[in-house]
Amino acid sequence: MQTILHRPAYDNEWILQGLRKHRANYSMVMCFETSDPVRLEQIKAFFCTSTLSEEYREHSIYIYDPWNGLGLLDKHSNLLNPSVIAQESGVGKQFQRDTGERIQELAGCLNVMDSKLRNNKTVLILHGLSQDQEGKTRLLAALKAWAISGELIQYHSIVILFGSGLSGLLDSETKDLIATVEVKLGADSEYEGLIAYLAKLFGISLKDEKTREDITGILIQALRGLNLHQAEAVLRESYALSARFDLEQIKVSKGDLIKKTGILEIKEPKEGKGFKRIGGYQVVKDFIQRKIIDAMHKESFKRFTVPLPRGILLFGPPGNGKTLFAEALAEAIKLPFIRLKTENIYGRFLGESGQKMGSAIRTAEQMSPAIIFIDEIDRFGRRVATSDSGGEETRRVFSQLLEWLGDEDRKAIILGTTNRPKDLDEAFIRTGRFDYKIPIGYPDDEARFEILRLHLGLPDSEGNRSPKPQPPLPPSKQEFLFFLQKEIVPRTTNYSGAELEQLVTRAKRNAAEREARVVEEEDFIKSLSSFRIDPVSRNKQIKEFEKQIIEYTDDETFLKGLIGEMKDV
Ligand code: ADP
Repeated sequence: MQTILHRPAYDNEWILQGLRKHRANYSMVMCFETSDPVRLEQIKAFFCTSTLSEEYREHSIYIYDPWNGLGLLDKHSNLLNPSVIAQESGVGKQFQRDTGERIQELAGCLNVMDSKLRNNKTVLILHGLSQDQEGKTRLLAALKAWAISGELIQYHSIVILFGSGLSGLLDSETKDLIATVEVKLGADSEYEGLIAYLAKLFGISLKDEKTREDITGILIQALRGLNLHQAEAVLRESYALSARFDLEQIKVSKGDLIKKTGILEIKEPKEGKGFKRIGGYQVVKDFIQRKIIDAMHKESFKRFTVPLPRGILLFGPPGNGKTLFAEALAEAIKLPFIRLKTENIYGRFLGESGQKMGSAIRTAEQMSPAIIFIDEIDRFGRRVATSDSGGEETRRVFSQLLEWLGDEDRKAIILGTTNRPKDLDEAFIRTGRFDYKIPIGYPDDEARFEILRLHLGLPDSEGNRSPKPQPPLPPSKQEFLFFLQKEIVPRTTNYSGAELEQLVTRAKRNAAEREARVVEEEDFIKSLSSFRIDPVSRNKQIKEFEKQIIEYTDDETFLKGLIGEMKDV
């Protein structure tokens, strides 16, 4: 019972914002976009007890969801003890069935509520509605009528839709008539309240075991991106598993929860995923270091209020390390790395993709500053000419992404990759959306040598250790390196990094198959002969890429460096 009394008081600003918007739009219907059950409890408590809801004191509050049916919220029995409401309203104790009999069908609820809304001071909250809601046509008709009804205005009655995915349920006419508010997942102060409350409840300390420093700030950071219900769940899980708030455990649970949404995946920056994994490409490495990493970390950049780069596009033919560069960047700037799973965006239902994208953007923003990695960003950025519903869907998601990219207040750093920048829409490429467009082409002689060494577990030319395991190699490393440089490098012109890696793997396999003592030159020669790279199409690809470099790279010095590097190829 004690747990109930101290539940944190969450911030009511989103409710007030919704009410302001409904007055400003002069619409009697409003929509709160959220899937957080805690927010539903909060709005119930708001109408029952909050001093901020004074003007709804005399209103009757009705709540409908397809399972529990329609119910009346009993404000009186709870008025004396505000905290009880927050706890109990979820279990249905406050529901008094109007007539003793459940009104479970949406159509029945709409009929009953129509006269109540028109003749009494009434608030109706509808939640748990799905995209393919039964009775959808009647619902839309009712919402449209209520939104502008003079009778509702007279009685100051309002209808509140609650849930995520509502944009898929509503048609555009209805949407135009109602006031919509996106509800924040959680503010830092709310996470803080929750952490303090649970710590007290479990009787655990918020001091780091070793350093004795307060860990609240770190915990808040780890919870960002989760709604309040999920945040509570991961904190409780951590306590259940280890009797404390264990940061690593919380990150794992959070990663699982975010992954469940199907569109975002968190990859915490790991040590050892840095630039060391990339062979060659010194010009690009230097550029990224100077323009992006230094800009994030160096005090001088802060002093001169240089804005952080917020959009980076890596482009170039597949298999040359665009993803490696993205991960290395994330590690170097120590920010969470979140992958937007573009392949999962397009859903089964019309409107679903837009909703998924919307919630992905909200979550990503909340976890920011973070790097949002969008592989094959051209999937969105492509011009869509079709006029069918699928086309409209794609266009909607595309414009959401464009809007996000162009958003002045965006905190997320978007890192996109593409093999085909030509397919990106003009609006995507326009300056301002991406601060840097960085070409990653086929490796030159030097880079190929470095890539081969790296994948053979040999130190690079500067003596840095390779992160890859080393197979048994001939005793004279010097001679072997000479062989790679003189025999393999010239014969792998226009190979991609991924193909060079494959070449090494095949050579190792050849050695293993013949049960040799070490990988020898003959294993490489045999491996080379098994490769088929069509020179005509490869050359075409390279010519195309060269054109793209000139067209898209807007930093002159960088461009000169790159072209110098490419001359070797
Ligand atoms: P992209 O994103 O450009 O398609 P990836 O970064 O996914 O290419 O590269 C695929 C794989 O090829 C990498 O995981 C790595 O093993 C290898 N590879 C590609 N480029 C390099 C490179 N420059 N150095 C080392 N390995 C590379």
